[in-house]
Amino acid sequence: MTTLQDEIWVCPVCEARLQVKAVHTCGSHGADSDFRPHFWGIDPLESYVHSCQECGFSGSAEDYRDGVPENVIRKIRKFLTPRTRDLARPGSPFFRYEFMALIHEWEDRDSLEVGDNFLKASWVARLHSNREKERLYQREAVRRLEEALEIGECEDQAQRAAVSYLVGELHRRLNRKRRAETWFHRALGEFELWEKEHGDPASDLAWLGDQIRRQLEAPADVLN
Ligand SMILES: [Zn+2]
Repeated sequence: MTTLQDEIWVCPVCEARLQVKAVHTCGSHGADSDFRPHFWGIDPLESYVHSCQECGFSGSAEDYRDGVPENVIRKIRKFLTPRTRDLARPGSPFFRYEFMALIHEWEDRDSLEVGDNFLKASWVARLHSNREKERLYQREAVRRLEEALEIGECEDQAQRAAVSYLVGELHRRLNRKRRAETWFHRALGEFELWEKEHGDPASDLAWLGDQIRRQLEAPADVLN
């Protein structure tokens, strides 16, 4: 069950004090087929990331603590400060994740991490029934995830299989049928390599093989 608590976060860019509702506890049961968890109670996603209304800085509690390099602060002031009005729009908390993704990209973080930020932005947009933004963020996410696979960011075979599946799933949700199938087949190839190495059907990755095959045969929006 999701519970939130009042906290004060201090913006590392302009030192404004933010009064936020931060996630205290949460739990989930099942997920959508692009891994968006189904939470017990209210969805806590938008409460993990908060934005400074003064300058546009956006991030998690950790980002607020870690601070930002000077060259990134200049970009925040140039590109995000003029857009702070977006943050105040009702029903649009997905902008927090979009701004955080851009900041992480300017900090040269891994494509996997930036892709994950955009993926979560798409989940929040879906939650607020904003199909246009959901698709925009899915396109941004899939580009970073493909790049991550291309430059070898995944740490092992299991992660390569899961990320390849996710790329296929995002293409499927974007109605790019052929590209989705190509990536599902690639994911299956990665999964079978993993299976050859580990070969234990009771292991915790076995579900992924079933999931990939299902999305090829009779796709669904909810995880198996
Ligand atoms: Zn600020």
